[in-house]
Amino acid sequence: MLWMIWMNRTVATLCVGLVALLGDHVVAQNSLPRVVRAVADNFTHGAVGLLSWHIVTVHLADLSVTARLWEVLLCGLLASAIDLDHFAAARSLRIEDALRLSSRPFLHCTSVPLAVSGIMVMVAHIFCWPSLHRLSWIFVVAILSHHLRDAARRGLWLYPFGSIPPIPSAVYIVSCMLLPHLLPWLVWRTRVVPQPAPMHSVVVL
Ligand SMILES: [Zn+2]
Repeated sequence: MLWMIWMNRTVATLCVGLVALLGDHVVAQNSLPRVVRAVADNFTHGAVGLLSWHIVTVHLADLSVTARLWEVLLCGLLASAIDLDHFAAARSLRIEDALRLSSRPFLHCTSVPLAVSGIMVMVAHIFCWPSLHRLSWIFVVAILSHHLRDAARRGLWLYPFGSIPPIPSAVYIVSCMLLPHLLPWLVWRTRVVPQPAPMHSVVVL
């Protein structure tokens, strides 16, 4: 049983690296139309996010297969949906306009969504909402896996502290492969334990 869990994590981690390499290879093909490369880039973000949360759930091993599947799909969808801010910033639904932006759109700022996620985790604790806690961490994995991959081209935008210059491809790929192995500890440490319902006092006359 343990070796199956180990195998699952190892294969998924290798898949993160392979998917990232393959996606980058397609995106680098200048002979392909820009739209095709943008779609391939977005699918790669989604696949890396999906695989990353899968690894997190294998580490945590605290949910049913169905619940894990929904979470994995959600993380992949969020990692992919981050690029929708290109359309919002361009105020256009045309992919050509979205690709022509002169500055990075708001969801590509790493520090602000991470701060928002931190607040969401705190709110989850205050109101004892385990599902909000879980959603916050899914959001963190979607954001970080997407931004680390983008960082190879544009660096990391850490408002209000400035930006980090582009990082080597090998560094981003290794970071994406390590991320889902490092975060489960934080997810577990910050977990929301549902409080038992208060016992009603019985007044004996
Ligand atoms: Zn992006």
